[in-house]
Amino acid sequence: MSEWKLGDVKITRLREQEPVWPGTAVLKQATADVVKGEGEWLEPFCKDGRFRLSIHALLVESEGKRILVDTCVGNDKKRPGFKEWNEMHLPFLQDIEKAGVSRDSIDMVICTHLHVDHVGWNTFLDAGAWKPTFPKARYLMVNKEWDHWSKFDGSPDFRNPIDDSVRPVIDAGKAELIDPNSRLTGEVWLEATPGHTPGHTSVRISSRGENGVITGDMIHHPIQVAHPDWICEFDTDPQMASETRKAFVQRYCDQPVLVLGTHFAGPTAGHIVRRNGGYRFEA
Ligand SMILES: [Zn+2]
Repeated sequence: MSEWKLGDVKITRLREQEPVWPGTAVLKQATADVVKGEGEWLEPFCKDGRFRLSIHALLVESEGKRILVDTCVGNDKKRPGFKEWNEMHLPFLQDIEKAGVSRDSIDMVICTHLHVDHVGWNTFLDAGAWKPTFPKARYLMVNKEWDHWSKFDGSPDFRNPIDDSVRPVIDAGKAELIDPNSRLTGEVWLEATPGHTPGHTSVRISSRGENGVITGDMIHHPIQVAHPDWICEFDTDPQMASETRKAFVQRYCDQPVLVLGTHFAGPTAGHIVRRNGGYRFEA
């Protein structure tokens, strides 16, 4: 677990898993040779030319509220299209409980988007039925995102997570459909970053002049800071995703804004800086 403070806001990384995958599983340009050739700055985020990744939730504590950003893959979910994630039995809930985060202490859950590795712990299996994991939480979902995925009739890899991890929360009356630029507290708000999915959102934090942003999957790995035009095969609109990412990198470059990567392993947080004419991510 890692922790950061921005003014009065505390952010805690709640790790579910840290896979090491070939870069090409996420970005087709990221072969082992390319990854190794990128330079020393990228080494903390890689292992033998592969990507070190992290699937984690970020707990944001602001004004007495506990906000959980993204809920990983979850347990017991049938994921035939994702072998590593099929019917997992990880001690995530026990781990966070040990870290002082009980299920009923969460006030809000926000999913940056409704993909398989961001909605999993919205629900858990209870006597054969999917129940909301965080019984006292309001589950915030971006209206455009729900609109898109609730009607999606393509691959079950995208439909199944909606059926077992999103719909049960809606049916239980726990969900609230919100605008992609909504404010959650005086210190925390959402900023629309569309492209990876239609209603994708990032989370902005500002407290006492200290600033941060949680990326979501608008960026998957720090190598995309240097190559914002590299697109991910899971992007709904690759062109828009690429434009959103370029704008993000330019906007936050050389700014005192802590960037927290939703899939960044090891140094999860750092700054976008300009070095030798290119963009880099430095922990
Ligand atoms: Zn993801």
